Amino acid sequence: MADETKGKKLQKNLTHKWENVWKDMDSSEEKIVESFNEEYKEFLDVGKTERESAEEIIRIAKENGYIELNEVINKNMEVKPGTKIYVNNKNKAVAMFVLGKEDITKGMNIVGSHLDAPRIDLKQNPLYEDGELSLFKTHYYGGIKKYQWVSQPLALHGLVIKSNGDKVNIVIGEDENDPVFMITDLLPHLAKDQMGKKMGEGITGEGLNLIVGSKPYNEDDLSDKIKLNVLNILNEKYGIKEEDFTSAELEVVPAGKARDLGLDRSLVAAYGHDDRVCAFTSLKAILEIDNPNRTSVGLFVDKEEIGSVGNTGMQSRFLENTVAELIDLTSDSYSEIKTRRALANSRVLSADVSAAFDPNYPNVLDKRNAPYVGKGVTLVKYTGVRGKGGSNDANAEYMTDIRRIFNENDIIWQMGELGKVDQGGGGTIAYMLAKYGMEVIDCGVPVLSMHAPYEVVSKADVFMTYKGYKAFYQA
Ligand code: MN
Ligand code: MN
Repeated sequence: MADETKGKKLQKNLTHKWENVWKDMDSSEEKIVESFNEEYKEFLDVGKTERESAEEIIRIAKENGYIELNEVINKNMEVKPGTKIYVNNKNKAVAMFVLGKEDITKGMNIVGSHLDAPRIDLKQNPLYEDGELSLFKTHYYGGIKKYQWVSQPLALHGLVIKSNGDKVNIVIGEDENDPVFMITDLLPHLAKDQMGKKMGEGITGEGLNLIVGSKPYNEDDLSDKIKLNVLNILNEKYGIKEEDFTSAELEVVPAGKARDLGLDRSLVAAYGHDDRVCAFTSLKAILEIDNPNRTSVGLFVDKEEIGSVGNTGMQSRFLENTVAELIDLTSDSYSEIKTRRALANSRVLSADVSAAFDPNYPNVLDKRNAPYVGKGVTLVKYTGVRGKGGSNDANAEYMTDIRRIFNENDIIWQMGELGKVDQGGGGTIAYMLAKYGMEVIDCGVPVLSMHAPYEVVSKADVFMTYKGYKAFYQA
């Protein structure tokens, strides 16, 4: 360009502009993005709980040649670079490994996401009758705004284990012909006191009771006939009794499927993008890894929303123990130092969603450092609260490695920070992996309405995140 001024040239060379993924996309690429997201929506619809998602990931892993670790050990199967192994952690968390050409002690490339999402769980003694209704008592799970969960159709997912050990899987409210459940809200006519309260206090935790019936069991001289009728229906259909609720894990989630959002269908509205969008994109990425240099790991954990606790959460030794097993399998002699080296030399993308800039709430985000919907996979160097408190602040050296990998592979990426300084904050599994010495950075999809019954993501970001994870595995 002959008429390009010196200043314009300088501007082009020195300044950085974050691009929109849709810009310059041709129609054949748009079709690929579209079909990728169709598959993603199906993944969301079949996996609304951590158990359902884990089951689906294991099904897909097996279909793609992954063998269960215990089977490899017990059958003394040969393991070599390219061998694909998965581990099922109590039906709630999964790890997938593609063994690399390099020794595992040189480190692994790990993408770690979580399968649990905010929801409402049933209490262990849930069923009662009041006001000619039968209801379930609940205890919410994770960070929800309680007022979002009332007066909308809800479904019940989970399992009941009977005293004889039989497992009964339950999904009610997803089929068009299924009944749904609902938590009532107060009519505006009588909500003078409620509407005067703070938003966080208008609906209480003990007020999140789910309507499950209103018909009495038809026999005179019985107490709690409406409750009895519900128990009778459950017994006829599933063979369960009231005591069986004590060994049940039943989760209440929004009923219905993931939907396209917007006239241009560029977005997906669904329950549980956080964090199944990172689970799905990292799953799709690792499925395309066949003979990596470094061992590739797809890690899908549970309990992130309540602090990564328990034996299925990231704070457990699940990953460590599994890596120890792999070292035992792949080397002549096991020694603990090898496990420690394998962990310490690893690189991680802590795959979780970030808070996208929302024009309805511009005041809580720094416009210059917030991630935007449609601007690609988001890297978050640090999270934390009140001055990066509790954050894994990724090293600049590692950040530049990831930046180079993304740039060399035409990944459209952006930097993001969770909200304005001192506005609030949060964190994910990054710091738990970093304690082994691993290099870790948060990397995922920007989300609108995070933790709401329906969250929103951009199809372009979903696709770009998958491409980013794949490039990371291949690096
Ligand atoms: Mn998350
Ligand atoms: Mn979350």
